[in-house]
Formats: sequence, C-alpha cells, structure tokens
Amino acid sequence: MERQREESRRIEAFRNAARTILPLPEDEVRSRAEAGTLTELPGIGPSTAAVITDACNGVVPERLVKLEKTAGPLATGGEELRARLRGDLHSHSDWSDGGSPLEEMAMTAMELGHDYLVLTDHSPRLRVANGLSAERLTRQLGVVDAVNEHLGGAFTLLKGIEVDILDDGSLDQTDEMLGRLDVRVASVHSKLRMDAAPMTKRMIGAVRNPHTNVLGHCTGRLVTGNRGVRPQSTFDAKAVFTACAEEGVAVEINSRPERRDPPTRLLELARDLGCLFSIDSDAHAPGQLDMLDYGAARATEAGIDPDRIVTTWERDRLLEWAGARL
Ligand SMILES: [Zn+2]
Ligand SMILES: [Zn+2]
Repeated sequence: MERQREESRRIEAFRNAARTILPLPEDEVRSRAEAGTLTELPGIGPSTAAVITDACNGVVPERLVKLEKTAGPLATGGEELRARLRGDLHSHSDWSDGGSPLEEMAMTAMELGHDYLVLTDHSPRLRVANGLSAERLTRQLGVVDAVNEHLGGAFTLLKGIEVDILDDGSLDQTDEMLGRLDVRVASVHSKLRMDAAPMTKRMIGAVRNPHTNVLGHCTGRLVTGNRGVRPQSTFDAKAVFTACAEEGVAVEINSRPERRDPPTRLLELARDLGCLFSIDSDAHAPGQLDMLDYGAARATEAGIDPDRIVTTWERDRLLEWAGARL
C-alpha cells in the first residue's frame, strides 16, 4: 500500500491494528478470531479484523493476494544499475513526517539488500513536518547507535539529516550538530517561487557549505499525485551544478514518482557538467524504499556513468567522500 502511495490514513489503520495484535498471546488472538470479537480491541475495525481472521485460519488474506499481484519492479530499464545500488541517502521516520519507526525503516532496507540507509529526518524550521531540534536529533543519534549495535555490522543505519536551505543559503542546523552526522542532504522547502537570482545565490550558498553532501530535489516540482502539481523553482542551473561539481556535492535523483526531480533536461545538464549523483528514495515509509527503481531507470536513460552515482559506492568510500570537506 505504501509503495502505491495509498492514503496514509488507510495504511495507518493496518499499522495500528498490528500494534494492538503483536503483543497479545497467540491463543487470545485465535479465540477472538473464532468468536468474532477482534473488533472489540482498540484500533481494529472490520477490514483489519478480516485480514487477521484469515491469517489465523492459515489463509492468505484476499487483500494481500491482490496487493502482491502488483509486486515486482516498479520501473523497467534500470535493472542493471538498480542491482549496483548499495544504499540510499534520503529517508524519513516517524521522528519527523515519516510513517514508521526508524527500526522498521532499517529492517526493510536490509530486506531490500541495502548495505546502508541514511536516516534524514527534517530540520527544526520545517515545523509542519515535525522537524528535529538539536536536542531531539541528539536523542535520535543515540537510538541509531543502539540499532546498529544490534545489527552487528552487516548493515549500517547512517546518521543524517534533510536540512532546510534557509532564504540566505545557510543551513537550518548548528555546525556542531551537522558535524556529528555521517551524511547531510540539503533541500529547499520554502519560498520555492523566489526570483531566479536570489534562488541561485541561496542554492550555491548551501552547496558551498562544507557540510552539504547532497542537493535534495533541486527544483521542488511536483508532477503528479494527491498533493497536486507544483512548477519547478527557477534558478541558474548551470551555475548551481557547476558549484556542485566543484565541491563534489551530489545532485540528487529523487526517485519519488510525484517529484521526478531533476527534470530530464537538468539531469542531462548536471551530467554534462561533471556532477556526482545520488539516487535516493526519499521514502516516508518502509514500502517506499524500493522507489529507487524509478531513479535507476531515469539515470540509465540519461546515460549516467554508475561510478558517478555515489549510492553505487561501498559504505567506506561513501563515508570518506561525505566527510572530505569537513
Ligand atoms: Zn524534502
Ligand atoms: Zn525528504
């Protein structure tokens, strides 16, 4: 449901039901399924109860059968590159505006075969997305350490942020805090309609900041989906991408189908200017982590050399690059 970007309210119903059921003893769940009293439990309605009852009876729920028919790659044409991607530098948990605990994001990334996932919850000024203060981010880093201790090294949840690029090109988090992270994605989320000259200055300011590793969804456009459409920001793309190439900042290929950012013409311009790229899911739920399929297809179509895509790199090379300007 998440990978099809269904309404989050409907997805949340299943997540809430799972939260209610998981801690219960198995025989209680079974007897309630037989007696038809599952719906007396908090968070369980008729549709989630039907799924649970089927599962208790050893029947694959009809709903799941239908959903699984839509499984498989999301896009065609990028399979070879997709197989070379080792991780993802842009994802959100329920610490900001994502739908799931960071532990679940990590588990799903492992199931997908990633070597690493960078957790990049939003920065303080993005209040609508419950952006993290320095205090909350500090606490999150402790949780990330604990998760990695349990995982034992085969997979790493990396510390990161999607930091807002403020109007003057500065970043919305303290240097001290930014310096404690592994990878930093910088994105514009406000005043997207700013005139081209100040927008160019703003973006270049962020790219020149030695903390910045990735320029996130650079045009801010929305091309489809339930948030409506939004035109791309205007800026001097040649100047911005030249700065990215000079600083070794990766231009993000944001895989979300409603973003498809950068647009093809700009993707080709960044390619020709010698930029690095990062194919990211910008997942807000575990089921969206494999949206990388879309980004891989676009990068392949644009003929981008896989070695210029930092998410094909192994973890140590990635970390060395991400810390190189500090
Ligand atoms: Zn963003
Ligand atoms: Zn994001």
